[in-house]
Amino acid sequence: MNDLKEKVVFITGAGGGIGKAIASAFAREGAKVVVGDIKQEFVAGTVKMLEEQGADVLGVIIDVTNYDSVKAALNEVVETFGTLDIAVNNAGVVGIGSIEEITPEEWDRVLGVNAKGIFVCTKAELEILKPKQSGAIINTASIAGKMGMAHLSHYVASKFAVIGFTNSIAKEVALDAITVNAICPGIVGTGMWRGEGGVADRWKLEGETEEQSWERNKKAIIPQGVDQTPEDIAEAVVFIARSPRITGQAIAVDGGITM
Ligand code: ADP
Repeated sequence: MNDLKEKVVFITGAGGGIGKAIASAFAREGAKVVVGDIKQEFVAGTVKMLEEQGADVLGVIIDVTNYDSVKAALNEVVETFGTLDIAVNNAGVVGIGSIEEITPEEWDRVLGVNAKGIFVCTKAELEILKPKQSGAIINTASIAGKMGMAHLSHYVASKFAVIGFTNSIAKEVALDAITVNAICPGIVGTGMWRGEGGVADRWKLEGETEEQSWERNKKAIIPQGVDQTPEDIAEAVVFIARSPRITGQAIAVDGGITM
């Protein structure tokens, strides 16, 4: 098992619900954590939380769709902490809509962050990891990277891309002792799944409220009957980072949805 103490971990989308939990989990392992997000206030929020945890932390504002922005942030990481050991490419955007609703621009927005963003970050990270001949990259995919889902076609396409890319790069760098994996969160009962216009709202039967649709779908779709928490996802990310012989996998944390 890899010891994560003092390891330098770069996390994108670290201002969001799942990213924050991942950052916190690595901090508990004694890692040095780099918080990357496009929104300054999101970066500041997670940095503050980690400082209160007593972690060694650096905040960077990045746009994962922009290579120069990610490259500049990674240069700062190396200047500050001396190296990079682990990267969690977790930034993403939600896309919900029927085929009639999705515009070509919306397709580009979702694929741009979720698919191109993973490519851009991986490319820049490997420029540090390959010469070291060690490291771990973990990309946030989704159960939407393993199955089709109504009203999420562009989101699903972006997450299938993440898994295909992850497996290909895992093969490409296998002899460099770098592991590359995807984590597939299931249904995390926040964000895209809940609220007006969310997935549960979309999947309502006639006469059903959003709350009733959420409860029905949760029971029907998740064999364990309970939704997943950001902490459930973070736990698995840390496990993958510790495991030198797991590579090219897309590991679902989904209460059995994709079993
Ligand atoms: P979840 O609830 O699944 O964690 P969020 O939407 O809360 O999802 O988190 C996604 C994070 O990714 C947000 O903090 C968001 O600001 C960030 N993000 C979105 N687009 C970009 C981008 N282009 N570059 C960097 N971070 C981004």
